[in-house]
Amino acid sequence: MAFEDMTEQQAESAARELREKLNKWADEYYTYDSPSVEDSVYDQTYQQLVDLETTFPQIVTPDSPTQKVGDHTLPGFTKVPHEIPMLSLGDVFSIEELKAFADRLSDSESVPFEYNCELKIDGLAISLRYEDGILVQGATRGNGQIGEDITRNLKTIKSIPQRLSRPINIEVRGECYMPKESFVELNQQRQVEGVAPFANPRNAAAGSLRQLDSRVTAHRKLSTFMYNVANYDDLESDTQSGMLEELKKLGFTINSDYQVAHNMDDIDQYVERYTKQRDTLAYGIDGIVIKVNSLPLQRSLGATVKVPRWAIAYKFPPEEAETTVRDIEWTV
Ligand code: NAD
Repeated sequence: MAFEDMTEQQAESAARELREKLNKWADEYYTYDSPSVEDSVYDQTYQQLVDLETTFPQIVTPDSPTQKVGDHTLPGFTKVPHEIPMLSLGDVFSIEELKAFADRLSDSESVPFEYNCELKIDGLAISLRYEDGILVQGATRGNGQIGEDITRNLKTIKSIPQRLSRPINIEVRGECYMPKESFVELNQQRQVEGVAPFANPRNAAAGSLRQLDSRVTAHRKLSTFMYNVANYDDLESDTQSGMLEELKKLGFTINSDYQVAHNMDDIDQYVERYTKQRDTLAYGIDGIVIKVNSLPLQRSLGATVKVPRWAIAYKFPPEEAETTVRDIEWTV
């Protein structure tokens, strides 16, 4: 049954069913790092819920997966409140949707602006806080408001500086990931040990970071790319691309494959290039992130409860072998 033909009661019942599925999968994915379905199945089911809630806005609940970031934190870790929330990203699955996002933003602004295109690293978001240039706290995103304190584990990762090149107070955000080679090695080792392999490098990175014994994390060969500054007012640059270069000067590892785009053609070419090169990279990417390059414009656009309005993720199409749920028929 098409959503448009449903009564409100039927829509509520269908939404409940979708939320239950999504919550179960999110728990497996975020809390236990052990997904039972492909990301594309989660994404398509999530999109069905978005479509249903768009058709029936009155059925949206505050705890719907469409209204919240990530999921629970694990017991055993100290909780870290994020003074500035760690958000997710809105996503699109085609160039047409990406263009529609850019068109909507252009229509709302009176002057032209640039984008910064970045690779969407398939890892998990981390936050690093420095006082006088010394790393004092590292945390996971958790539910966006409260994360897990994983400072000791993050200190074992070589790409994370313990001391910055300047004695400043700053909080930076980025992605922690497991390089493809380390992932293959780790799963081979787990097979020898008779332990279940990790489903993908993202889950391996998340499972490796959320260890109560930091010696385990130290052996897992994780790495990071930082891409955002949460609370530092003294940036020299007023652009996203300039901020990345400042992060590099401070001692962080950034992903240098970013590119400033002046128009949709530039974005198109960037997406095409990395769709082709994706398999040759040493780390997994699951899409491209397009961000408004001007930091003042980012600030004025702000965010919803879940995602910034100044950025969007273009997700790569699922691999051939992955399941699709696009054609599921609603029988309510
Ligand atoms: P997301 O992964 O789609 O996008 C947001 C995240 O992208 C950010 O939090 C950040 O960690 C990351 N990111 C990587 N590179 C970035 C860059 N250059 N700039 C900014 N951010 C960057 O959203 P999410 O909320 O983390 O996770 C939702 C996704 O997780 C779903 O779309 C689905 O694919 C997957 N998921 C899968 C299952 C499953 O069962 N398979 C369950 C839940 C979620």
